[in-house]
Amino acid sequence: MQRGRRKPDWLKSRPPSGSRFTEIKERLRERDLHTVCEEANCPNMGECWSGRDGPGTATFMLMGDRCSRGCNFCDVETGGMEPLDPDEPANVADAVAEIGLDYVVLTSVDRDDLADGGSAHFAETIRAIKRRDPEILVETLIPDFGGDPEAIDRIVDAGPDVIAHNVETVERLQWPVRDRRAGYEQSLAVLDRVDRESDIHTKTSLMLGVGEYHHEVYRTLGDLREVGVDVVTFGQYLRPSRSHLDVFEYVHPDVFDVWRAVAEEEFGFLYCASGPMVRSSYKAGELFVEAMLR
Ligand code: SF4
Ligand code: SF4
Repeated sequence: MQRGRRKPDWLKSRPPSGSRFTEIKERLRERDLHTVCEEANCPNMGECWSGRDGPGTATFMLMGDRCSRGCNFCDVETGGMEPLDPDEPANVADAVAEIGLDYVVLTSVDRDDLADGGSAHFAETIRAIKRRDPEILVETLIPDFGGDPEAIDRIVDAGPDVIAHNVETVERLQWPVRDRRAGYEQSLAVLDRVDRESDIHTKTSLMLGVGEYHHEVYRTLGDLREVGVDVVTFGQYLRPSRSHLDVFEYVHPDVFDVWRAVAEEEFGFLYCASGPMVRSSYKAGELFVEAMLR
């Protein structure tokens, strides 16, 4: 563990490069589409997009770039949401087919301002991608939809390959980490409903370094397995700006390795991606296909 404000060496990364990276970037610009990968300046772009050892992965953000919530770890702006773009599902599907991605992650801001939380729009985007090419694997990282079971079922019915919903942190730290409208029990209930209503793989992510104790992380892994979660990821929390939640500690890479072993070997998760730079969608395509072939 390393406390303090200076980032340790293990968090320094090289800028993404490579011909596949450049090609995807150009195609996205041509269509004026934006990925979470770029917006967040994610350090994993080179690895994820190239899919060196398997399917390439990119993450698209749906329903605008402003959120109805304001989590204290997140850089997305709160309030002032625009109406949904009815062409977005087809546009994203076109871009995915054109770029030749094999594994797509769809995520969105929270849209508590919409009666269905944006679930129909989200579901239509999944369908549009699958209509174009049923072989493309689609992972969805969904909001909690305020716990609305109909909204969750709408996503399930659209037939993605993986449904992820992030608990983000241990139960005690949900607030101040997440918006007050989010919550541990509500997030577990979302994952539980997906597991009970379908054979779709479920996934969640936790940030480490916000002040959690080891026994709380351990208990969370148990809670997640109890509601049938298949995949878990751990990454280091990094503060986007001075107005966001402070980093409590920089967790050593060895500790991330221990959590991967505990999750896979002791709790039986299908796989666990765990490391300081890991994000929820980190090499999701490669790791998913690798796990399915095991
Ligand atoms: Fe960011 Fe999601 Fe929280 Fe909105 S709900 S502020 S997009 S983490
Ligand atoms: Fe994109 Fe997620 Fe990979 Fe980052 S980890 S490059 S956001 S797919």
